Amino acid sequence: MPIRLCGKNKTTTPKRETTECPDNLCVYMAQAGYLLDGLFYVTISAGDINLESIGIMSTPKLELRNVSKTFHANGMVVRALENISLAVTPGEFLTVIGPSGSGKSTLFNLITGLLEPDSGEILLDGVVDVVRAGHFGYMPQRDLLLPWRSVLDNVIIPLELRGIPRTDARTRARQMLPMFGLEDFADSYPASLSGGMRQRAALLRTILTERDTLLLDEPFGALDALTRRELQDWLLGLWEQFRQTVVFITHDVEEALYLGDRVAVLSPRPGRVANMLAVDLPRPRRRGMIALPQFGRQMSELLESLGVEV
Ligand code: ADP
Repeated sequence: MPIRLCGKNKTTTPKRETTECPDNLCVYMAQAGYLLDGLFYVTISAGDINLESIGIMSTPKLELRNVSKTFHANGMVVRALENISLAVTPGEFLTVIGPSGSGKSTLFNLITGLLEPDSGEILLDGVVDVVRAGHFGYMPQRDLLLPWRSVLDNVIIPLELRGIPRTDARTRARQMLPMFGLEDFADSYPASLSGGMRQRAALLRTILTERDTLLLDEPFGALDALTRRELQDWLLGLWEQFRQTVVFITHDVEEALYLGDRVAVLSPRPGRVANMLAVDLPRPRRRGMIALPQFGRQMSELLESLGVEV
């Protein structure tokens, strides 16, 4: 049921509307609220629950409202995304899963402005922004490291693009190499790196765009299971430190749950938000949490939303 939050009394203009119902808000709703025109109004004050922690009071960093996209190619009409509405709060780690062809990459292309929606709106920091390029650190599925440049010279590309002299850019990037486990590989070329190292280099390059929102498109998809887990934990450690807003595409359900604050599930084409799950795990995440009963329960819920029989 759509929920509309009001201020301290029922006459205050509603501030924000959401279709989600966080658990603690549901508890609150059981105590107070009223129905009007199909919306549930809740009288609420910041003292009753921590609105920040459930991501309701802060302006979303990124918001999509009823976004749809259809492609027309070779006489074919492909409806890729239909009425996508979602909001990502500042500092949130949102994971997105969906079957192949459900429009996950199209979603990123729309967010970054490489594509325009046929209908709907995309808001950055609460404002409809038609010039979205340059607002995000974007890491595509393949690492796209330039084979003729060393690791150091690959990662400084975003700094160079901003006109920072190469020597200064190198100094800045070199300081970050240890955090990415690449301090001994500054002068190596991509071909000599392992898959995990290449992804770490690509991620460092993305982070050096110095944008506060990162869009990561299946960054660990091509890695073996062990390296993948290692990089998941490493990425979480990095995120705990920098607290950037992250939107992370994956088609690995366990990865989506382990990393995310919430998981958005896209339906098969045309992609719609089939489920938006608030992950029931504390931070910081620890590998052992995958053995918790709620992890298994939420895995089942996600698989069911994906149409997999559990
Ligand atoms: P996913 O990333 O979830 O695998 P995509 O976003 O790549 O899905 O694609 C969603 C659907 O849109 C697919 O059916 C794909 O073939 C189609 N599509 C994506 N980009 C284009 C394009 N530029 N022209 C025509 N069809 C496209």
